[in-house]
Amino acid sequence: MKIANEISGEIALLEQLICLADDSLRHDGDRRKAASFMSKASEILFRQAKNADCIDRKRMLATHAANLLDTAIKLGDFDGPVKPHEHAVDVFGQQRQTRSAQITFDDIAGLVEVKQTLMQRLVFPLRYPEKIKKYRISTGGGMLLFGPSGTGKTLLARAIAGETGLPFFVIKSSEILSMYYGQSEKQLADLFAEAKRQPQGAVVFLDEIDAIGAKRSDGMNEASRRLINQLLQELDGVEGKNEKMIFIAATNEPWLLDEALLRPPRFVETCFVPLPDESARLELFQLALSGCPVAKDVLPEELIRQSDGFSGADIVNLCERAKLIPFCESISTHVERAVNMADFRCVMSKTRPSVNHSQLTRYINWINHQCKGD
Ligand code: ADP
Repeated sequence: MKIANEISGEIALLEQLICLADDSLRHDGDRRKAASFMSKASEILFRQAKNADCIDRKRMLATHAANLLDTAIKLGDFDGPVKPHEHAVDVFGQQRQTRSAQITFDDIAGLVEVKQTLMQRLVFPLRYPEKIKKYRISTGGGMLLFGPSGTGKTLLARAIAGETGLPFFVIKSSEILSMYYGQSEKQLADLFAEAKRQPQGAVVFLDEIDAIGAKRSDGMNEASRRLINQLLQELDGVEGKNEKMIFIAATNEPWLLDEALLRPPRFVETCFVPLPDESARLELFQLALSGCPVAKDVLPEELIRQSDGFSGADIVNLCERAKLIPFCESISTHVERAVNMADFRCVMSKTRPSVNHSQLTRYINWINHQCKGD
């Protein structure tokens, strides 16, 4: 009886953590907080998996725990108080290599043109150095990815590391600012220096570049001014001099960036990462549901239609929440059923796309503005 109460208490806590993760994402846009809630939820599941009495149940719980943990890591890319790898020892006694799992372009739905540009500009020069020399193609310089949140910019940067086999360095601008205010430029320089020291080269990903690369203005404080100057200096250091150092930056708000950053040769290419089109949305559902039992009544056309305007992250999140319905049921009833259309309809009815029309219009205006060069 005591154990049954404990288990039902844990399930309630689990559901609460998932709701909190969802709220953090939807209302506050706080991915790290959401990641932390998801990580805690996965901890509970790992514990339940360890204590489960039958092997199938153990496997099922461990798989869900691992999926939640993966989502948490992708969401937060965090090193916060809950260290994912500390409880990522699976119930069969093996260490999960979640952090080192390599992503390639095959793991990314849609974005065909962006992937092609990244492949040609960043991956091929490393794969075919002789041909690059033969055609005297200039290499180096950074790549700026911009677009709505959750469209796969971070994933693309990770995939470059996966495709080239280079180590991946993430610099979160907001963290540099908040943690080391006053000596941020030293932190930035140190991070670049560490990446440059890698003998085989490195992929450096600067997320939220607008946080440190915002337009210089008269009222700007001295520390922010020093930081942006440092960033410009680092980017100039990447250009052409270190063939195996790949620099990628991302922003959701390119219009905030200082003009000097946008001028060549700092970024050889600026790529818009859009919301997924119909075929990309289908791929996203397939990726997010792969390996999970899906009922025959699930209608892909309806999912695609209803998810118009959703980002990739919205779709992955939607699938996670739909999967949780049969999963939570199965914990209390011990009956495992496939995720069905009613689960999706239930979740869809409470879900709105995280990107709105006026935000999208802003990207189009900014692109037009850049094309005109005014
Ligand atoms: P961004 O950096 O643009 O805010 P992310 O790359 O962090 O977005 O994406 C967040 C999550 O959304 C990813 O971890 C992944 O689960 C999902 N996602 C977004 N876009 C895609 C895509 N095109 N293909 C596969 N998964 C995607």
